[in-house]
Amino acid sequence: MKGNSIGRQVIFFVLLAGIISSCGPSRRAKKRVELDAITVSAKNNPLDIYRETSTKSWELVNSHVALSFNYKDKTAEGREWITMHPYFYVTDSVVLDAKTMKIDSVKIKAVTESKTLAYSYHDDQLHIKLDKKYTNGDTIKLYIKYTAMPYSGKAGGSSAIAEDKGLYFINTDNAVPNKPVQVWTQGETESNSRWLPTIDKPNQRTTTRLELTVADSFTTLSNGYLDHQVKSVNGMRTDIWIMDKPIQVYAIMFTIGKFSIVPDKDWNGKPVNYYVEPAYAPYAKTMFKHTPDMIGYFSEVTGVSYPWNKYSQVVVRDYVSGAMENTSATLLGEFLNQNDRENKDEDFEDVVSHELFHQWFGDYVTAESWSNLTLNESFATYGEQLWRRHHYGNASADLLLWKDLHTYLSSAQVNQPLVRFHYRDREDMFDRVSYQKGGAILHYLHGLMGDEAFSKSMQLYLQKHALHPAEATQWRLAIEEVTGQDWNWFFNQWYYKGGHPKLDIKYRYDDDIKQLTVTVAQTQDGGNYKLPMKTAVCYGTDKELIDWNITDKNTTFFYPYKDGKRPVVIPDVRHWVVGEINEDKAPVDWLATFKNSSDDIIDKIKSLISIDKKYDDTANRAIIDLALQDKDYAIKTTALSMLDKITASQHQNKWMSTVEYLAENDGNNKVRAGALEVLGDWKVSKAKDKIYAALNDSSYLVAGAALGALNEFDKDTTYKLSKAMLANDPKGELEATVWDIIGERAKDDDAPLFEKRVPYYYGNKKIQLASSLADYLANVISSKSFDRGLDVFRAMVKGEPINSYRSSIGTYLITVAVRYKDKKKKARTNADVATYESRIDAVKTATEEMIKNEADEGTKSTFRNYYKIVFE
Ligand SMILES: [Zn+2]
Repeated sequence: MKGNSIGRQVIFFVLLAGIISSCGPSRRAKKRVELDAITVSAKNNPLDIYRETSTKSWELVNSHVALSFNYKDKTAEGREWITMHPYFYVTDSVVLDAKTMKIDSVKIKAVTESKTLAYSYHDDQLHIKLDKKYTNGDTIKLYIKYTAMPYSGKAGGSSAIAEDKGLYFINTDNAVPNKPVQVWTQGETESNSRWLPTIDKPNQRTTTRLELTVADSFTTLSNGYLDHQVKSVNGMRTDIWIMDKPIQVYAIMFTIGKFSIVPDKDWNGKPVNYYVEPAYAPYAKTMFKHTPDMIGYFSEVTGVSYPWNKYSQVVVRDYVSGAMENTSATLLGEFLNQNDRENKDEDFEDVVSHELFHQWFGDYVTAESWSNLTLNESFATYGEQLWRRHHYGNASADLLLWKDLHTYLSSAQVNQPLVRFHYRDREDMFDRVSYQKGGAILHYLHGLMGDEAFSKSMQLYLQKHALHPAEATQWRLAIEEVTGQDWNWFFNQWYYKGGHPKLDIKYRYDDDIKQLTVTVAQTQDGGNYKLPMKTAVCYGTDKELIDWNITDKNTTFFYPYKDGKRPVVIPDVRHWVVGEINEDKAPVDWLATFKNSSDDIIDKIKSLISIDKKYDDTANRAIIDLALQDKDYAIKTTALSMLDKITASQHQNKWMSTVEYLAENDGNNKVRAGALEVLGDWKVSKAKDKIYAALNDSSYLVAGAALGALNEFDKDTTYKLSKAMLANDPKGELEATVWDIIGERAKDDDAPLFEKRVPYYYGNKKIQLASSLADYLANVISSKSFDRGLDVFRAMVKGEPINSYRSSIGTYLITVAVRYKDKKKKARTNADVATYESRIDAVKTATEEMIKNEADEGTKSTFRNYYKIVFE
């Protein structure tokens, strides 16, 4: 699974700092900030509980379920035939997970007839007393008639999986015009038991037969293959889907809706299809681009041919997470819905490769317990890198590696071990340790082992545990069998221990004896790591690759000068170390690092960010000059983002013409956009024509950057342009900038604009709109418009079905009060003070309402926490 980027709980101050520091709409950064969870103190310390692997008293064999749906009540009528056998010990009872259901009857199929069984239903479990004792040689078939009521129970969830209803009814009451009617499921972690009585644990697998009765106008999708369809007289139809290999319970899925099915080229005779809303059918092959080639590459690199009969991807509305790797049928959120123009600015290929790699790691072999989740998520995260390295080369893969490493390093969970037997809630496992740190560790492991050994180890692990659960130890054993080496040292420090190494590297050049002394200190708490790595020693343009094996707290290396040339050291050139490396390098040596890193994007970025504000230094200027000419867009954009901060005109003049050139001519959208932002921030009036021209760029990102830049010169014209653009349905970054400018200007008449847009916006777009609306409310003069805007905000919170989004929108609402508190401090008249006070009160009342109406406990406590901070 891949989560959405906005967590359920947000650090208020991160959000706030973003808002307050952005006086104009120039930077989108405030919306891209990844928001951390705030720590909520736990009751009864659940961290004391050892999270064991679920005991197998019974083993599922087949789950045959027939479902029909009540759209109005959001319930499903189910009949299930469940085949299973005792796992080992003799037993005369069965306990099934069956959350928020009404159970009508339970029977067992005996030799000649069905027998009704006694049962009790409580605590979301169905306790069945069997007619006799059964041994593990026996197979039984139970029949259960039930009603699934996923909307009647209390929903939990995490930031990765925002809710856990298991079965979702989207607009099935047709309440929102123009919104599709859909029904879909989300099983992970243990939510499929909200619509299917089962043993809802990751170490259970079952073959499935799903019979879905739907209106004939709907399309359905499930695991495996569509066996046949049966039409009935009343305009209904039953689709029978069969998955004939046993899959883990949480990966069972179905989707119902009006979809266009867009076929891509088959892979080895296996169909590859995209299920999308008809409006996105023309773009589906771009949205999911390279899927068939990815299947081929992953089959090759794992040595295991794609294990399922087909691969389908479906995009649904109001999805509660990012995407989910249901076996042979991945389900994705509507952020995937983009036209070709939008896809050029930002695509979601990493999401596609992530979910696809799960078809091997997660689906073919499944983590046996949530403690071992990294066996699914680290591989899926690393799969993104593997695909990039194969298809786009090292720079693209390393950029992702660098981003993932920093996503992990900036997370609040750095002290958590990868494999964790103590956690508060199983949903907590879906964090940056299981994903990003896990992926980075696999990159290290891969590097140490070499390509062939890494591939062979994946193959052995997958083949040995095919269609079975596994734990982390079994991954280590596969590696040991392949390499003939003991890997406990690696697993002990990376899989079973939290935290990471922090290396301080110091360079001392002694020109008298012509020698460089390098000291490497491990400064982290809690013992030393064993850190083998590749390090480069450069003499001018000569580069030697050497091995460093850091094991002690302090290690010293000596490198004599060569032919009078000072050596420059680039540590860990393969970027294996999952931790922090700090070097006290002089600018001139960072320049040498940059020059010696032609194929290494990470060391070039490190050299660039070493510059900080020291633009006067000759070596630093040379780094920027080189970076602006670099072949890679990420280096150019990093350089531009550093120039962006320059305020002194003598420094601006040095790079002015290069920036103008890039704004107009660079082939990459991100580079043109970055250069335009710099021109805007530097208020380069002679570049106005170029900026105007860029408003018509084919890239929304570039057009948005141009609009933002123009806003730095001429707010009136930009505002008028923005209003005109709004009528032409702008998208992507352009749309976000348009709303930013409308929010910033806060014209009295514009409150209805927001009101009109709310029903059509969803997900991150809606959060962006909330951010602009917060700007609007913080700046608008007319009290009537303020009240109207506040009502729109209230309605936005109320109408948002997804907890994480509702939480973010509500938080933006509360920030309006903070901004008026700030204004009040600086107010110059009594009338202003009175206005600001009344607005703070109005937001306070709206917040109280929001807390009162909030059904989700997590979101409620987020609102309460912020209420306390702001109003008490
Ligand atoms: Zn995943």
